[in-house]
Amino acid sequence: MILPIRLFGDPVLRERAELVKRADEDLNGLIADMIETMRNANGIGLAAPQIGRNKRLFVVDVSPLLDSMAEHERAELPDQPLVFINPEITWESDEEVEYEEGCLSIPDIMEDVIRPSAVRIAFRDAAFKRRELQVDSILARVIQHEYDHLDGVLFLDHISAFRRQILKRKLREIARGETTAEYPTEVALAA
Ligand code: ZN
Repeated sequence: MILPIRLFGDPVLRERAELVKRADEDLNGLIADMIETMRNANGIGLAAPQIGRNKRLFVVDVSPLLDSMAEHERAELPDQPLVFINPEITWESDEEVEYEEGCLSIPDIMEDVIRPSAVRIAFRDAAFKRRELQVDSILARVIQHEYDHLDGVLFLDHISAFRRQILKRKLREIARGETTAEYPTEVALAA
Protein backbone atom coordinates (compact mmCIF):
# COMPACT_ATOMS: atom_id res chain seq x y z
CA MET A 1 0.00 0.00 0.00
CA ILE A 2 1.33 3.43 -0.93
CA LEU A 3 1.23 5.67 2.12
CA PRO A 4 1.22 9.48 2.14
CA ILE A 5 4.61 10.99 2.98
CA ARG A 6 4.65 13.48 5.85
CA LEU A 7 6.07 16.84 4.91
CA PHE A 8 8.38 19.28 6.65
CA GLY A 9 6.49 20.95 9.49
CA ASP A 10 4.91 17.74 10.70
CA PRO A 11 5.89 17.17 14.35
CA VAL A 12 6.40 13.42 13.75
CA LEU A 13 9.53 14.33 11.75
CA ARG A 14 11.03 15.96 14.85
CA GLU A 15 10.42 13.16 17.35
CA ARG A 16 12.87 10.55 18.52
CA ALA A 17 11.50 7.27 17.19
CA GLU A 18 11.03 4.23 19.43
CA LEU A 19 12.70 0.82 19.23
CA VAL A 20 10.89 -1.89 17.28
CA LYS A 21 10.19 -4.52 19.93
CA ARG A 22 9.52 -7.58 17.85
CA ALA A 23 9.04 -8.96 14.39
CA ASP A 24 5.42 -9.68 13.60
CA GLU A 25 2.94 -9.39 10.75
CA ASP A 26 2.45 -5.70 11.42
CA LEU A 27 6.17 -5.10 10.99
CA ASN A 28 6.31 -7.11 7.77
CA GLY A 29 3.36 -5.14 6.41
CA LEU A 30 4.94 -1.86 7.40
CA ILE A 31 8.22 -2.77 5.67
CA ALA A 32 6.40 -3.78 2.48
CA ASP A 33 4.38 -0.54 2.51
CA MET A 34 7.48 1.55 3.08
CA ILE A 35 9.34 -0.06 0.16
CA GLU A 36 6.32 0.44 -2.09
CA THR A 37 5.93 4.06 -0.95
CA MET A 38 9.64 4.80 -1.49
CA ARG A 39 9.60 3.32 -5.00
CA ASN A 40 6.42 5.13 -5.97
CA ALA A 41 8.09 8.41 -5.00
CA ASN A 42 11.33 7.50 -6.84
CA GLY A 43 13.14 7.74 -3.52
CA ILE A 44 16.29 5.88 -2.52
CA GLY A 45 15.51 5.89 1.19
CA LEU A 46 12.53 6.26 3.50
CA ALA A 47 12.32 6.29 7.30
CA ALA A 48 9.24 5.26 9.29
CA PRO A 49 8.61 8.75 10.74
CA GLN A 50 8.18 9.97 7.16
CA ILE A 51 5.01 7.92 6.89
CA GLY A 52 3.92 8.91 10.37
CA ARG A 53 5.21 5.88 12.29
CA ASN A 54 7.34 6.62 15.28
CA LYS A 55 9.55 3.52 14.86
CA ARG A 56 13.31 3.01 14.50
CA LEU A 57 13.14 1.58 11.01
CA PHE A 58 14.19 2.71 7.56
CA VAL A 59 14.51 1.26 4.07
CA VAL A 60 17.14 2.03 1.44
CA ASP A 61 17.19 1.14 -2.23
CA VAL A 62 20.00 2.58 -4.33
CA SER A 63 19.18 0.41 -7.35
CA PRO A 64 17.63 3.33 -9.32
CA LEU A 65 21.11 4.92 -9.33
CA LEU A 66 22.97 1.89 -10.64
CA ASP A 67 22.30 2.52 -14.32
CA SER A 68 24.15 5.82 -14.25
CA MET A 69 27.21 4.39 -12.51
CA ALA A 70 30.51 3.00 -13.66
CA GLU A 71 30.77 -0.76 -13.36
CA HIS A 72 33.30 -0.77 -10.53
CA GLU A 73 31.02 1.49 -8.44
CA ARG A 74 27.96 -0.57 -9.25
CA ALA A 75 29.58 -3.84 -8.23
CA GLU A 76 29.76 -2.77 -4.59
CA LEU A 77 26.14 -1.73 -4.26
CA PRO A 78 23.10 -3.88 -3.50
CA ASP A 79 20.46 -4.07 -6.22
CA GLN A 80 17.77 -4.97 -3.69
CA PRO A 81 16.16 -2.86 -0.97
CA LEU A 82 17.87 -3.02 2.42
CA VAL A 83 15.87 -2.87 5.65
CA PHE A 84 17.39 -1.38 8.81
CA ILE A 85 15.54 -2.04 12.07
CA ASN A 86 16.80 -0.56 15.38
CA PRO A 87 20.00 0.60 13.68
CA GLU A 88 23.03 1.90 15.54
CA ILE A 89 25.91 3.67 13.82
CA THR A 90 28.93 2.18 15.59
CA TRP A 91 31.74 3.87 13.68
CA GLU A 92 32.21 6.90 11.43
CA SER A 93 35.22 7.67 9.26
CA ASP A 94 37.28 10.78 10.01
CA GLU A 95 37.21 11.54 6.33
CA GLU A 96 34.22 13.64 5.31
CA VAL A 97 32.64 14.30 1.95
CA GLU A 98 30.22 16.82 0.57
CA TYR A 99 27.23 15.53 -1.30
CA GLU A 100 23.97 17.02 -2.48
CA GLU A 101 20.96 15.70 -0.56
CA GLY A 102 17.24 15.89 -0.95
CA CYS A 103 14.39 14.42 1.09
CA LEU A 104 10.95 13.13 0.17
CA SER A 105 9.57 15.11 3.14
CA ILE A 106 11.11 18.33 1.79
CA PRO A 107 10.22 18.36 -1.92
CA ASP A 108 12.24 20.37 -4.43
CA ILE A 109 15.04 21.36 -2.05
CA MET A 110 18.56 20.07 -2.64
CA GLU A 111 21.50 21.18 -0.53
CA ASP A 112 25.13 20.16 -0.13
CA VAL A 113 25.74 18.39 3.16
CA ILE A 114 29.07 17.32 4.66
CA ARG A 115 29.13 13.95 6.42
CA PRO A 116 31.59 11.12 7.15
CA SER A 117 32.39 9.25 3.95
CA ALA A 118 32.03 5.81 5.55
CA VAL A 119 30.14 4.33 8.50
CA ARG A 120 29.61 1.01 10.20
CA ILE A 121 26.04 0.23 11.20
CA ALA A 122 24.60 -2.54 13.39
CA PHE A 123 20.92 -3.34 12.87
CA ARG A 124 18.30 -6.03 12.46
CA ASP A 125 17.32 -6.94 8.92
CA ALA A 126 13.85 -7.70 7.53
CA ALA A 127 14.07 -11.19 9.08
CA PHE A 128 14.91 -9.49 12.42
CA LYS A 129 18.40 -11.02 12.29
CA ARG A 130 21.29 -9.02 13.73
CA ARG A 131 23.69 -7.75 11.09
CA GLU A 132 26.50 -5.28 10.76
CA LEU A 133 27.64 -3.53 7.62
CA GLN A 134 30.46 -1.18 6.78
CA VAL A 135 29.51 1.08 3.91
CA ASP A 136 30.90 3.97 1.95
CA SER A 137 29.93 5.90 -1.20
CA ILE A 138 26.30 6.75 -1.85
CA LEU A 139 25.11 3.97 0.44
CA ALA A 140 26.85 5.54 3.46
CA ARG A 141 25.26 8.84 2.55
CA VAL A 142 21.70 7.52 2.29
CA ILE A 143 22.06 5.48 5.48
CA GLN A 144 23.23 8.51 7.48
CA HIS A 145 20.40 10.65 6.12
CA GLU A 146 17.77 8.04 7.01
CA TYR A 147 19.36 7.30 10.39
CA ASP A 148 19.03 10.99 11.26
CA HIS A 149 15.27 10.78 10.66
CA LEU A 150 14.99 8.32 13.58
CA ASP A 151 16.31 11.02 15.91
CA GLY A 152 14.13 13.78 14.48
CA VAL A 153 17.02 15.27 12.53
CA LEU A 154 16.63 16.56 8.96
CA PHE A 155 19.37 17.28 6.44
CA LEU A 156 18.53 20.97 6.79
CA ASP A 157 19.97 20.79 10.31
CA HIS A 158 23.40 20.17 8.75
CA ILE A 159 23.47 23.21 6.48
CA SER A 160 24.51 26.75 7.38
CA ALA A 161 22.15 29.24 9.00
CA PHE A 162 22.73 31.37 5.91
CA ARG A 163 21.46 28.65 3.57
CA ARG A 164 18.50 27.94 5.85
CA GLN A 165 17.57 31.60 5.77
CA ILE A 166 17.54 31.51 1.98
CA LEU A 167 15.22 28.50 2.05
CA LYS A 168 12.91 29.93 4.69
CA ARG A 169 10.07 30.94 2.42
CA LYS A 170 10.11 27.70 0.49
CA LEU A 171 10.07 25.73 3.74
CA ARG A 172 7.14 27.73 5.03
CA GLU A 173 5.26 26.92 1.83
CA ILE A 174 5.95 23.21 2.28
CA ALA A 175 4.77 23.31 5.89
CA ARG A 176 1.57 25.07 4.82
CA GLY A 177 0.80 22.50 2.17
CA GLU A 178 1.34 24.99 -0.62
CA THR A 179 3.75 22.82 -2.56
CA THR A 180 2.96 19.80 -4.63
CA ALA A 181 4.94 16.62 -5.04
CA GLU A 182 4.59 13.85 -7.58
CA TYR A 183 3.58 11.40 -4.84
CA PRO A 184 0.91 11.40 -2.12
CA THR A 185 1.81 13.67 0.80
CA GLU A 186 0.23 14.74 4.04
CA VAL A 187 0.69 18.00 5.88
CA ALA A 188 0.07 18.48 9.58
CA LEU A 189 -1.49 21.89 9.77
CA ALA A 190 -0.97 23.70 13.03
CA ALA A 191 -4.17 23.95 15.05
ZN1 ZN B 1 14.79 12.39 4.31
